Amino acid sequence: MYNFSNTDEQIIICDVCPRRCHLKKGQNGFCFIRCNTGKSIEYTSYGHITALAVDPVEKKPLFNFYPSSYALSLGTYGCNMGCKFCQNHKITKFNLNPNDLLYISPQMLVRKAREMQCQSIAFTYNDPVIFYEYVLDVSKIAINYGIKTVAVSAGYAQKEIRKKLFTKMDAVNIDLKAFSSDFYKRNCAAELSVVLDTLKFIKNDTNAWLEITNLIIEGENDSPDELINMCEWIVMNLGKNVPLHFSAFHPAYKMLHNKATSSSKLSLAYDIARKTGLNYVYVGNIRDIEKSTTYCKECGSILIERDWFKVISNKLNKNAKCPCCGCTCDGIFI
Ligand code: SF4
Repeated sequence: MYNFSNTDEQIIICDVCPRRCHLKKGQNGFCFIRCNTGKSIEYTSYGHITALAVDPVEKKPLFNFYPSSYALSLGTYGCNMGCKFCQNHKITKFNLNPNDLLYISPQMLVRKAREMQCQSIAFTYNDPVIFYEYVLDVSKIAINYGIKTVAVSAGYAQKEIRKKLFTKMDAVNIDLKAFSSDFYKRNCAAELSVVLDTLKFIKNDTNAWLEITNLIIEGENDSPDELINMCEWIVMNLGKNVPLHFSAFHPAYKMLHNKATSSSKLSLAYDIARKTGLNYVYVGNIRDIEKSTTYCKECGSILIERDWFKVISNKLNKNAKCPCCGCTCDGIFI
């Protein structure tokens, strides 16, 4: 999976993500956690984590996936994206010393999830693409206990890694940061086309349940044209039943002077997505019960009502059908 170049400097190219870091012996990649050890590129902080918490699965966010269940959520450190607005920059943008961090083996993690009665384990807070070996080891054990695995990712992965990782997940939330190549270049140092390919791959070539998050930053990625293009692309390539979460930005990292997203901007995005035909649209990082609700795609009845991440009513019957018209709600509920 790694390419070795024939130079005197022992440069090895990392093939995990499209960044393809050319690393000299002893050098870490852009993500911090992969290093040229002299023989190969290694993931040098396997199992060392920065955060571990029991979260409602709605916080990932996943709204059409086992509502009201809990996800044992963890993050490591580093990231392969260069987002100027990173909301988790304290763990993604610093090269931490793994020896200062808690080590938790895949076995220990699964045991913890069982003890805490979590229905799933979520790899979140930073991007699981960069620590995919650990994720796969956890998923191999978790499956034996009926524990689901969830990846929350920007989807910036090379083809082989994309396949290895996402085919093993039960659910994925992909952060689609904008629908503009220019935005991705300027603000994330990345390529939009790779993320779109990942979305198509997950939807068409895996069994994972897919949801999408789009963080709205006013004046940057919120023009009606861009939102219409994004929603039309989703409908055409992924279908109308992929949930889309519009999330409010809060000033962070290198975008401290951009203002927090207003509820009216989120409502505008919500209306555009609904008009484009998407059946499950939500707003997040802001309190809006009406726009955090799942509605029946046939008759419009309220199915699942939420207040922030808390489910306040779930009217789906045992077969995940609408109690009014009998239409099946898309997602994984039983
Ligand atoms: S995974 Fe890390 S080291 Fe490898 S190419 Fe991506 S950023 Fe570079």
